[in-house]
Amino acid sequence: MSLQAYKGVWVFIEQRDGVIAPVSLELLGAGRKLADKRNVPLAGILIGDEVGKLAPVVIEYGADIVYLYDDPIYHDYRTESFMKAVIDCVEKHKPEIFLYGATSTGKDLASAVATDLATGLTADTTMLDVDVETGLLEASRPAFGGNIMATILCKKHRPQMATVRPKVMKALAPDKKRTGGIIAESLYIREEDLRTKVLKIVREASDKVRLDEADIIVAGGKGLGGKEGFEMISQFAKLIGASVGASRDAVEAGWMDHHHQVGQTGVTVTPKIYFAIGISGAIQHIVGMQNSGMIIAINKDPNAAIFQSCHYGIVGDAFEIVPLLTQCFAQVLQ
Ligand code: FAD
Repeated sequence: MSLQAYKGVWVFIEQRDGVIAPVSLELLGAGRKLADKRNVPLAGILIGDEVGKLAPVVIEYGADIVYLYDDPIYHDYRTESFMKAVIDCVEKHKPEIFLYGATSTGKDLASAVATDLATGLTADTTMLDVDVETGLLEASRPAFGGNIMATILCKKHRPQMATVRPKVMKALAPDKKRTGGIIAESLYIREEDLRTKVLKIVREASDKVRLDEADIIVAGGKGLGGKEGFEMISQFAKLIGASVGASRDAVEAGWMDHHHQVGQTGVTVTPKIYFAIGISGAIQHIVGMQNSGMIIAINKDPNAAIFQSCHYGIVGDAFEIVPLLTQCFAQVLQ
């Protein structure tokens, strides 16, 4: 099959309990740009049970077409059933580019599809572009410990696939006036042919922080010296309604749980305000928070790299500055 036979940009629309994952909306925004550059349509592939009502939302967020697989067999996510639907759709309509959220579902599905179709997949992409002439997807991601950005091409196979980290791309504002086509697809899958059965879904009762949804994050690093330092910033965070983040070194020291880690091997965050306190500013940390609205760094070393990546920098000892900030905010917020 010639590569020219493949046209259009696709986004896998991840949904759970009838709610579209934010990353899918972000990918529609990113996919729209790629599709416009190539002058090809943008499509969403939506798979689930009773999910037809979500198709117009996919169009509002930028898609021209929605391929809809709506059947009870897709009630719960299972690699096999979803993969069969995706492969059926790819074989019928042949997209040139296919994007998935780098969530556990997106990563699981994309890798299974890529293996079956024998095509390339770039994981955990943080930047996307396309060569207008050749149609080659330029999927960039940190490599070699985050010291360089690698741009990965898939020259010989189609579709060109990538998983993209949540919160890195921007969703378009929904436009109720946008129009598009909804194509109902069907594929006969017998329950008895599927090897996985979902017996019960048990929701984890958890007090895990959702850093990726926080508006304000107060993050601490090795410079906080220990758990007491984190207690100090947690107090400040609580006062201003912020979540607490941490560098990997602070997590590895056992001062904070891994769920708080921001960065390449932690969470990517985009709060309105990000305080980086006692954090040196290693590239692996910066890639996880650089898209924050405002970054305020506190570090006692005036040459710390973090000062190259912040909007406001305070050179000083965190143990002097943070109590002062807490005191000031307490007065204002009284
Ligand atoms: P340090 O680099 O030790 O910096 C401490 C800072 O605190 C210094 O700048 C110091 O001047 C300042 N300081 C000291 N005392 C005070 C004080 N009293 N008041 C104010 N400032 C003070 N890192 C991450 O954060 N997230 C990741 O996801 C991540 N992933 C990685 C993946 C790979 C493959 C690799 C190789 C590394 C990764 N790292 C990650 C680690 C990263 O390279 C750095 O080692 C780490 O971010 C450094 O943490 P830090 O800034 O807390 O500590």
